Amino acid sequence: MSLRSRLYLVLGALFLVPILVGGLVLVLVVPEVQSSQRTASVRGAAVAMRAEIAAECNELVLASQLVANASAASTPQHAVRTVVPSVADYAALLGPSGTPVAQAGRLPPGVPGPGSLPDCTAGAALGPVLASAVSTSGVSGGAVTARVLDRALLTRLAARTGVDNEVVLLRDGRLVATSAPAADTRAVVRIARGRVGVVSAGGWVAAVVAQGRGSPFTVVVASRDPGLSSALVAGFVLILAAGAAAAVLLVTSLARSLSQPFTDLTEVAERVAHGDLDARLDTVGEGEAGRLGEAFNHMTTELRRNMTALEQSREDLRDSLQRIGDTLMSTHDLEGLLQVVLETAVATLRAEAGVVLYGAPDQLRLVAQMGLHEAGIPAPTGVTVGAGVLGRVIATGESVRGELSSGPPELNPASDEPRRGQILATPLRSMGAVTGVLALYGRPFDATDDDALRTLSGQASTAIDNVQLHQEAQRLSTTDALTGLWNFRYLSMSLAREIERSTRFERPLAVLMLDLDHFKAVNDTYGHARGDTVLRELAQRVQDQIREVDTYARYGGEEFVVVLPETTIEGAAQLAERICLAVRRQPFQGDGEEPLTVTVSIGVAAFPQHGSSAATLMRSADRALYVAKHEGRDRWHVAGEEATAPVGH
Ligand code: GH3
Ligand code: MG
Ligand code: MG
Repeated sequence: MSLRSRLYLVLGALFLVPILVGGLVLVLVVPEVQSSQRTASVRGAAVAMRAEIAAECNELVLASQLVANASAASTPQHAVRTVVPSVADYAALLGPSGTPVAQAGRLPPGVPGPGSLPDCTAGAALGPVLASAVSTSGVSGGAVTARVLDRALLTRLAARTGVDNEVVLLRDGRLVATSAPAADTRAVVRIARGRVGVVSAGGWVAAVVAQGRGSPFTVVVASRDPGLSSALVAGFVLILAAGAAAAVLLVTSLARSLSQPFTDLTEVAERVAHGDLDARLDTVGEGEAGRLGEAFNHMTTELRRNMTALEQSREDLRDSLQRIGDTLMSTHDLEGLLQVVLETAVATLRAEAGVVLYGAPDQLRLVAQMGLHEAGIPAPTGVTVGAGVLGRVIATGESVRGELSSGPPELNPASDEPRRGQILATPLRSMGAVTGVLALYGRPFDATDDDALRTLSGQASTAIDNVQLHQEAQRLSTTDALTGLWNFRYLSMSLAREIERSTRFERPLAVLMLDLDHFKAVNDTYGHARGDTVLRELAQRVQDQIREVDTYARYGGEEFVVVLPETTIEGAAQLAERICLAVRRQPFQGDGEEPLTVTVSIGVAAFPQHGSSAATLMRSADRALYVAKHEGRDRWHVAGEEATAPVGH
């Protein structure tokens, strides 16, 4: 059930129940009150009526007395007229036998003579006649006065007790007199006969006061019981209907105004739940609903912000992964790899700055840095194993994390390290050995950051291993294992490159081809191992004579080639001479070895005059070498000068 429906129910109940209760009170209580008022009214009227009749009786006593007194002073005829018709309807003076001597007025038909009229003071009456008799001194029979309780009298008396009351007099259960029309009288007599007190029946409320002393009649005062008046009922119904209509309007608008903010909130919340984070409550209003709306808007704003941040960090992560992927792909460049690892670490852990120091334990050097300048952090120049934070990471192979200098002893920085701020440093490994340290500076780092950096450094270590394996493989594929010189493969590539360069820039280029003299004899005499030592030493002696830019390669067994960029034939010949001298001058001798004099023959060729391609140039050098051998060894020969050129000696 919706909130609005519940509000309708509750508010409806709150408003309508009192209205219904009010209606019920009006319908049930008001008639009751009316009825009890009416009851009290008719009861009072009946008592008053009885008193009126008693008063009439007393008046008749006085009237009879008056007639008796008057008869003594004047004629009987005159005496009886003093009270009729003003006080009594009938007056008579009776003779000794009870027959009237004089009389005035008339008794109703059917009433016997005045002598037999009962005295009202004794609680007696005859028919609708109230009579009083007194004895007189002059007339033996006494004086009698009577009042006829006709409709006119009763109506007058009834009017005194209440406007709409009817009076009915009964004597011994029989109707004596009535103020009401015949039909009403019959109805009243029917409900009142044999009863005493207040009787309510047949649309009448009647109070019955029984006959007794001072009252010769049973007095019934009756009033029509109107029930609820139709005007009153109509009024009630109108008020109830108006109240109910007002309640419905009030309940509707109240329920709507109370529930509307929640309806709006629900709609917007549903939109948010379905992913529309831009949904907002437009009118938030005041009070608790307004605060709830504001809180909701604030919540969705925060949610949106967090979602954006989440998306951003997901993008960062994607970038980081991309970077890591790129790094792992480009496994040739160790420093480039370490720079990317550092950038990834700084970005992922939201550090301000970072450094990577890498190398052999005693020769660690700064290979990557990020954000140092912006953060005002000096770049560490190197690391002494065991000293400072970075040195301790190298020495222990454990990460450190915390505030510099104020932290534990392992957080006391060395002189060239940052001395304040937060650090997170982790070792980098290659082939299981600690070969570097990655340090981040900036915000306080927690254990999660530590874990993340360790994971990253683990991946970096794998990548470093890959780089080094690759470099080693590369090196092995292009170098000679015995002498450490370039091998034939590398020589071919290098010579082709140099010829290309010389061609393009028209620069000189020369090659030397060296071959040890009678080397087979060395092997044969001193063994192969000694021969290898001689080869290594020769490689070194020649190396000492040439420049950095020269390419020096082992061409075959004991044959070597030197490619000389930017070198003319003359320059090459001078170098050949120097080499011959350097080899010849000092015997070859290792520890505990017999000195051994070794010589070398050299063929010299220049580009392009002796060959415009690598193959022809090498062939020329080879031929020149052959000539040098042929002419006696321990000398050099320039290609194409077999006939004329002097041979170096
Ligand atoms: P020549 O003066 O004519 O050059 O005489 P040679 O004895 O040096 O003749 P050659 O150049 O043909 O001899 C090659 C010898 O070099 C054969 C082999 O015993 C030796 N040799 C080739 N490679 C190696 C190597 O790697 N180690 C050793 N110890 N000897 C090698
Ligand atoms: Mg040879
Ligand atoms: Mg040789």
